[in-house]
Amino acid sequence: MEKKKLKTVEIVNENVELDEEYEDIQCPRCKEMKVVSWAQQTRASDEPPTRFYKCMKCGYTWREYS
Ligand SMILES: [Zn+2]
Repeated sequence: MEKKKLKTVEIVNENVELDEEYEDIQCPRCKEMKVVSWAQQTRASDEPPTRFYKCMKCGYTWREYS
């Protein structure tokens, strides 16, 4: 039985806990489908957290505003 564990990656000197790992999102840079995602609270706590994506192949990171 294999349990999927949350991974931690270093993003601009911060360690964040990944909450999702996608295989259906394509990296806009290298077109690989190895993308992880996590949510990070922005400065204003009454705003929804920003979702970040990172390509595990080339390291490209981008964000998405909801
Ligand atoms: Zn990539």
